[in-house]
Amino acid sequence: MKITADVGRCVGAGQCVLTEPALFDQSEDDGTVIVLVDEPEGVLLDHAREAVRVCPSQAISLSG
Ligand code: SF4
Repeated sequence: MKITADVGRCVGAGQCVLTEPALFDQSEDDGTVIVLVDEPEGVLLDHAREAVRVCPSQAISLSG
Protein backbone atom coordinates (compact mmCIF):
# COMPACT_ATOMS: atom_id res chain seq x y z
CA MET A 1 0.00 0.00 0.00
CA LYS A 2 1.25 3.43 -0.94
CA ILE A 3 0.50 6.73 0.77
CA THR A 4 -0.41 9.60 -1.52
CA ALA A 5 -0.66 13.15 -0.22
CA ASP A 6 -2.47 15.99 -1.97
CA VAL A 7 -0.83 19.06 -0.48
CA GLY A 8 -3.37 21.24 -2.29
CA ARG A 9 -6.07 19.84 -0.01
CA CYS A 10 -3.94 19.76 3.14
CA VAL A 11 -4.94 22.40 5.69
CA GLY A 12 -1.94 21.79 7.93
CA ALA A 13 -4.00 20.50 10.82
CA GLY A 14 -1.24 18.10 11.83
CA GLN A 15 -3.51 15.21 12.78
CA CYS A 16 -1.43 12.87 10.62
CA VAL A 17 1.79 13.84 12.41
CA LEU A 18 0.14 13.39 15.80
CA THR A 19 -1.11 9.98 14.70
CA GLU A 20 2.24 8.70 13.40
CA PRO A 21 5.31 10.98 13.43
CA ALA A 22 7.38 8.20 11.85
CA LEU A 23 5.29 8.51 8.69
CA PHE A 24 4.44 12.19 8.46
CA ASP A 25 6.01 15.58 9.00
CA GLN A 26 4.84 19.11 8.26
CA SER A 27 6.51 21.70 6.07
CA GLU A 28 8.18 24.46 8.08
CA ASP A 29 6.97 26.93 5.45
CA ASP A 30 3.24 26.33 5.35
CA GLY A 31 2.51 23.35 7.60
CA THR A 32 1.45 21.08 4.77
CA VAL A 33 2.08 17.37 5.04
CA ILE A 34 5.35 15.68 4.10
CA VAL A 35 5.23 11.91 3.71
CA LEU A 36 8.37 10.37 5.24
CA VAL A 37 7.66 6.72 4.35
CA ASP A 38 5.39 6.22 1.37
CA GLU A 39 5.05 2.42 1.50
CA PRO A 40 4.49 1.57 5.18
CA GLU A 41 4.28 -2.00 6.43
CA GLY A 42 3.10 -3.76 9.56
CA VAL A 43 2.03 -1.52 12.42
CA LEU A 44 3.00 1.56 10.42
CA LEU A 45 0.41 0.58 7.80
CA ASP A 46 -2.22 0.37 10.54
CA HIS A 47 -1.19 3.83 11.70
CA ALA A 48 -1.30 5.12 8.12
CA ARG A 49 -4.90 3.90 7.84
CA GLU A 50 -5.72 5.72 11.06
CA ALA A 51 -4.07 8.91 9.78
CA VAL A 52 -6.17 8.72 6.59
CA ARG A 53 -9.26 8.34 8.77
CA VAL A 54 -8.52 11.34 11.00
CA CYS A 55 -7.30 13.79 8.34
CA PRO A 56 -9.96 16.53 8.27
CA SER A 57 -9.48 17.37 4.59
CA GLN A 58 -9.03 13.91 2.99
CA ALA A 59 -5.59 15.05 1.86
CA ILE A 60 -3.94 11.67 2.35
CA SER A 61 -4.96 8.36 0.88
CA LEU A 62 -3.76 4.77 0.63
CA SER A 63 -3.80 2.81 -2.59
CA GLY A 64 -2.37 -0.31 -4.15
S1 SF4 B 1 -4.02 15.62 8.90
FE1 SF4 B 1 -4.49 16.00 6.75
S2 SF4 B 1 -4.81 18.20 6.65
FE2 SF4 B 1 -3.73 17.79 8.56
S3 SF4 B 1 -1.53 18.03 8.06
FE3 SF4 B 1 -2.07 15.86 7.81
S4 SF4 B 1 -2.59 15.66 5.64
FE4 SF4 B 1 -2.67 17.83 6.14
